[in-house]
Amino acid sequence: MTFNRRTFLGTGVAAAAALQAPMVLGAAKPRVVVIGGGAGGATAARYIAKGSKGAIDVTLVEPSRSYYTCFFSNLYIGGFRELSSIAHSYGKLASEYGINVVHDWAVGIDRDAKTVTLAGGGWLPYDRLVLSPGIDFIDGAVGGWDVTAQNKMPHAYKAGSQSELLKAQIESMPEGGTFAMVAPPNPFRCPPGPYERVSMIAHVLKERNPTAKIIIADPKPKFSKMALFQEGWANHYDGMIDWIGPDFGGDIVSVDPDAMTVTIDGEITPVDVCNVIPAMKAGRICEMAGITEGNWAPVDGRTMQSRLDENIHVLGDACAQGDMPKSGFSANSQAKVAAMAVRAALTDSKMFPAKFSNTCWSLIGTNDGVKVGATYEATEEKIAKVDGFISQTGESGELREATYEESIGWYAGITSDMFG
Ligand SMILES: Cc1cc2nc3c(=O)[nH]c(=O)nc-3n(C[C@H](O)[C@H](O)[C@H](O)COP(=O)(O)OP(=O)(O)OC[C@H]3O[C@@H](n4cnc5c(N)ncnc54)[C@H](O)[C@@H]3O)c2cc1C
Repeated sequence: MTFNRRTFLGTGVAAAAALQAPMVLGAAKPRVVVIGGGAGGATAARYIAKGSKGAIDVTLVEPSRSYYTCFFSNLYIGGFRELSSIAHSYGKLASEYGINVVHDWAVGIDRDAKTVTLAGGGWLPYDRLVLSPGIDFIDGAVGGWDVTAQNKMPHAYKAGSQSELLKAQIESMPEGGTFAMVAPPNPFRCPPGPYERVSMIAHVLKERNPTAKIIIADPKPKFSKMALFQEGWANHYDGMIDWIGPDFGGDIVSVDPDAMTVTIDGEITPVDVCNVIPAMKAGRICEMAGITEGNWAPVDGRTMQSRLDENIHVLGDACAQGDMPKSGFSANSQAKVAAMAVRAALTDSKMFPAKFSNTCWSLIGTNDGVKVGATYEATEEKIAKVDGFISQTGESGELREATYEESIGWYAGITSDMFG
């Protein structure tokens, strides 16, 4: 059966009423559905279940059985990690925290009936809904590219098979070949991500294919940790990387995946590998729920509640995050605020003022790690930066190695905070 909003409302309300009946009798627990089992969603599900000690029924909807973190996927491409080391399963969330893990796509949200429809045909009622579906790409953002071309020109901005494909393509580039990256406009997932990726690819090429070239076509005049990356590229990969900003047409780019060419400001360049990272928007389910304004979902940072529906909390990359960058650390930090707000709304637990933090690490070359980070607080208008820090150019090798070691500890910590 195909649902439209009208027919769905009709059946949904009746079914929801039937399902809610036991709650009136005091038998049922409040229900939370979390859509997306990534950095934001897995953390939120775990903190809601753990913190409420069984008082709230938590269902996590996530299509994949293995979650590959985008964080450290660049290190996999660079040969510093195995793919298996960035794969995580949902078993502990089910067995240790009692979370009902449903491996399916959420394909519809009826905000009046408070139900989520699943691709497999089922549906889930909720008292509070948490949305952390990450990003999707804006159609037509890069001329000549759409997802049907992602095997010829991978984005590798959702980790797993795309990361494997990009790594394999780089490793089989012809001697002296050309790698091109089409970088995205702001705001996008992981501001230093494309530039860490270029560093890792240069690391591979320096070892396997030292006469190869890297071109970055970038619509932005500057990017995260720019001075640190440029210093690192000069130190490690001198002459290999050519960054083309908007002054030189980096913002006027199209690609031809069949011909394997990139056209920058009218000039056609044949390439051997092309990593297209298109402009981004909130995961599609947010649009389907009608809680986006423009490309992202506006939220009240004090609770991560949608500004368009108080029964929905949006976190991670999908939300309009004020001053916070779109990162796994940000999503994890926001998830804890959302979990606290959900527990406070549905049980008698306390709500404290929202505080957030973020650090983005990048590896530029072997043991050459850099970082940028900040703390944030929620104001009525937005998530506002309080103070920050950044690695400096010219730092000692010992300090850079310590920063890399710190990032390894962070990875172990955040993934166990997500998956138990
Ligand atoms: C190359 C790269 C490097 C990065 N490095 C770092 C780093 O070093 N540090 C850092 O903090 N961050 C890093 N990030 C960013 C980080 O990966 C993201 O910011 C983070 O994953 C966002 O979390 P999220 O919960 O919003 O989305 P995700 O982690 O992407 O999770 C979204 C989940 O929702 C699921 N989903 C989507 N739609 C539906 C639906 N309709 N129904 C059910 N499930 C759905 C998806 O399958 C996915 O598992 C990096 C990103 C990239 C691409």
